[in-house]
Formats: sequence, C-alpha cells, structure tokens
Amino acid sequence: MTKERVIILGSGPAGLTAALYTARANLEPLVISGSQLGGQVSITYEVENYPGFPEGSTGPELVERMQKQAERFGARMVVDEVVEVDFRRGSPFRLKTYAEEYEAEAVVVCTGASPKRLGVPGEETMIGKGVSFCATCDGFFFREKEVVVVGGGDSALEEGLFLTRFANRVRVVHRRDALRAGETLKRRAMANEKMTFVWDTVVEEIVGNGKVEAVRLRNLKTGTAERLATDGVFIYIGHFPNTDLFRGQLAMDGHEYLSADARMMTSVEGVFAAGEVMDPVYRQVATSVGQGAAAGMMLERWLASRD
Ligand code: NAP
Repeated sequence: MTKERVIILGSGPAGLTAALYTARANLEPLVISGSQLGGQVSITYEVENYPGFPEGSTGPELVERMQKQAERFGARMVVDEVVEVDFRRGSPFRLKTYAEEYEAEAVVVCTGASPKRLGVPGEETMIGKGVSFCATCDGFFFREKEVVVVGGGDSALEEGLFLTRFANRVRVVHRRDALRAGETLKRRAMANEKMTFVWDTVVEEIVGNGKVEAVRLRNLKTGTAERLATDGVFIYIGHFPNTDLFRGQLAMDGHEYLSADARMMTSVEGVFAAGEVMDPVYRQVATSVGQGAAAGMMLERWLASRD
C-alpha cells in the first residue's frame, strides 16, 4: 500500500492544473493518468480558444506543456488506471489501480468524459474498422475517401473540417436543420467545398462486412429511408461523464455528473472534483483549467485546516 498526501485522478487540463496548484503548495501530488493520457484534448488537433496562445496550439502540445509545468514543481505522473475506490470511511481514502494500491489523504477526481455512442447496429462492431470517435487519430486512414460525420455541434464541425484535409468528401449528418455549433466554425464549414450537410436525418444502422461500407439514414421530417455509401463514420454527438467508479459513493446529478459545492468539494469531505466529470455546461479547456486550479487551492486549504 503506497501512502500519498494527494492523488489526482486524470491527466487532462483539469487534473494537470490541480497538480500544478497542489505541487506549488509542496504537496507532491501523484497524478494517475487514466486510460487517455492527457485527456480528451490530447486527441484534439487544434485548440484556438485557449488564452495565451494567439496562434492556437495542438491539443497534445498544450497538455504536454501543462504536464511539464506541474512536474517542474514536484507533481508526479503514473500511467495507470484506477479500477476501484473506497471513499466510504473518509480520509485516508483507498484506491486500487491495475498495478498498485494507494492510500491518499485527499483526492481530486478529474476523470473527464467520454464520447456518446449512437447505439445503432454496426457501431460497436466496426469501431476501428471505419467507425471512429477521433478524427485526429484516424483521419489519415481516410485519404481520398468519403466519410460521414454525425452531429451538429462544435466537435462535429471542427473534426469534420480536420477530415477535409484527407477525405475527398465529408458529409455531416445532423438530426435537425440548424447547427448547434458556434458561428466561426459554422462559417468555415459552410465555406468548405468538401463539406456537405444532410439535414433532419439520423443514422439508423452502420452497414459493412468487416469494414464500413454504408450508413442507413432516415429523414425525420419525411420519414424517407436511404442507404448512403461511405468509407467511414465519425461520431460527435456529445459526451457522458466518467463516473462509473463513484456510483453509490459520491453524489451525482440526474445525468451522472459529479455534484460539487463552491469549494469544488464532492459529497465526501476531502474528495474534490474538477473538469468535465462535474461540468455539463462549459466543457472548455479554459474552464477545466479554472476548475482544476480552484480544486487544488481548496484541497490545500482543507488539508491545512486538518493539520
Ligand atoms: P454538443 O454541443 O452537445 O453537440 C452534440 C451534437 O450532437 C448536437 O448537434 C446534437 O443535436 C447531436 N446529437 C446528440 N445526440 C444525438 C443522437 N443520439 N443522434 C444524433 N445526433 C445527436 O457536443 P460537442 O459538439 O461535443 O461539444 C461539447 C462542448 O464542447 C460544447 O460546449 C462545445 O461548444 C465545446 N467545444 C468547443 C469547441 C471549440 O470551441 N472550438 C470544439 C469542440 C467542442 P442537437 O443539436 O439537435 O441537440
């Protein structure tokens, strides 16, 4: 059993900022990376709205800088995943990873969120065979091909635009006739001649034999069904919080996001939360960083009040 003062679950912007703040308070936090090193932003090609980077930055570069900065002040990172927590008896808390068992006086949960699935036939079975949730990871495989992007938000357009670098044609299939995405991305997408839109339409099935060959679509206004040949399907229909581990131990809202008070403290004293695991509203790198900083500061005060 390894004893730590502070353990941070997750290595995205929220976790790394909580690490920076607690490291600068001499608490030598241990960051347990989780399955996605660097969190969701590490698979985002371009981040243009994080202040201080007027030319933008790639996602991986941004989190790498955050990690270096936290480590400079004494944060440590292990590449591992927490598989079990016991918060019931209060501090010290017990956590189990694939490799190790830990005890921690205080914990910050920054486990983020994961892409939602459509829940249609063919989706699960063809992940990695044409179905993807990450254009940055898989776009290259679709050079000179045709792809479908599902969703009408910022992610769908941003990642769809990224895919136009490789694919000959990117069709955005959206369930309404108006995009949810912001104006800048909307303008860019509309102006891109490789991008076209299929409005008021949902994907009912992803068809293929070992790899994606087509999607079965249904127009929600007319009820008409259509089969559209495609080489790939990129799904961007939002996210769900990674809170499975905490069910029955930490209070959550109706959508299973962690509940936290103004001090970023969850329903358990000494367990804090920051980033997309507790934020269904803003979900930006900038806001996750702010929440991570707040959680780090409040954790330090909480520990000091106990000492
Ligand atoms: P989002 O804003 O929640 O958009 C999800 C999209 O998927 C919506 O258009 C929604 O349709 C559609 N959708 C949801 N469930 C569906 C289903 N079952 N079948 C078909 N379509 C479905 O998610 P997001 O695009 O991932 O963005 C998340 C947050 O990150 C937002 O706050 C966004 O602003 C932010 N973000 C910002 C940037 C940027 O600023 N550059 C980039 C990426 C993300 P409806 O519109 O009909 O609801």
